[in-house]
Amino acid sequence: MTLVGIVGGGQLGMMLAEAATRVGIECLTLDPAPDSPASRVAPAIVGAYDDERALIELAAAADVVTYEFENVPVASARFLAERVDLFPPPESLEFAQDRVLEKTLFEEVGLGVAPFSPVSSKEELSEALDVIGVPSVLKTRRLGYDGKGQVRLASVEDAESAWRAVGEAPSILESLVPFERELSILGVRGRNGAAAFYPLVQNIHREGILRVSIAPAPDVSPELQATAERHALAVMERLGHVGVLAIELFRVGEELLANEMAPRVHNSGHWTIEGAATSQFENHLRAICGLELGSTSLPAYSAMVNLIGSVPPEGSFGLDPEINLHLYGKASRPSRKLGHVTIIAPDPITRDRVLGRVTRTADNHG
Ligand code: AMP
Repeated sequence: MTLVGIVGGGQLGMMLAEAATRVGIECLTLDPAPDSPASRVAPAIVGAYDDERALIELAAAADVVTYEFENVPVASARFLAERVDLFPPPESLEFAQDRVLEKTLFEEVGLGVAPFSPVSSKEELSEALDVIGVPSVLKTRRLGYDGKGQVRLASVEDAESAWRAVGEAPSILESLVPFERELSILGVRGRNGAAAFYPLVQNIHREGILRVSIAPAPDVSPELQATAERHALAVMERLGHVGVLAIELFRVGEELLANEMAPRVHNSGHWTIEGAATSQFENHLRAICGLELGSTSLPAYSAMVNLIGSVPPEGSFGLDPEINLHLYGKASRPSRKLGHVTIIAPDPITRDRVLGRVTRTADNHG
């Protein structure tokens, strides 16, 4: 039986381990927390992500290693890659961890991005403001997620406080995009280079955190889908990526601008567990283990609602057959993703009706 090592034991690791049981794959996770969500469904090594003893233990036990979050130290990924097959490759991590490398890569493959300028001092911020202007957003180059490490500028007078707010860390100043919708494309590439894509997903954020995903995204032409797939494939090929890769996009008319990418299974793909022929988790495992990729077709209309900060009392969502509740076993904390609900419906009208009810129930407690 193939054993997959997973760096990180959060909910993504948990859902990877759950999918593994359906493919006959075993998982072993590495996480500093002894009570990580993934430890509920798979054995775990408790250790830091840069603990060489823990990394050696993981590499020795596993046939192939992957990761479930993009802030795994690149040095740890390289350390692992010297000892065991590691997918996605360290290059995918390296590019995803640095907004300048990431945006430069998008531009190289012809995928547009918002005008941006790297900033590493107060003086450079004021120079960048001359070029980019306002409204704009200052984002740290590294370690930003869920809207953390970023601050909006409405006027040039905000420069001083914005620079302090990002902790005077190397950043980028980026033009604010007047997008109509936020979308994401999820692709998966196998060890033999074969690739598959899920239909574009529409994402709705609240305070920088993903709140709702709708699949397939409404009003997407086959041309827009093909454009997104072409760009995602080019990014994966440039990186030698193997596994799932998600690119978050802004839709402006018929144009797509890339915001950022995640070299891993992604929150905007959780609906695939019930809503696609093969889930993103199973396809990630299939890809990294050298198995044939599963179908990405959709038998139904889906929506996903994240449960953030708190979970409604048991039974709140009722017995609706369209509703699928997933809880991660994490302690409540503001802004923390504690679970999600996936709605599966035979048509968009039913989906939207149930989505309205689920978001109201979640909101009354979130
Ligand atoms: P990020 O951490 O870059 O994914 O940003 C989190 C969220 O902030 C995005 O999903 C958008 O909703 C919003 N956002 C980030 N950058 C921009 C931008 N340049 N223009 C408009 N909205 C943005």
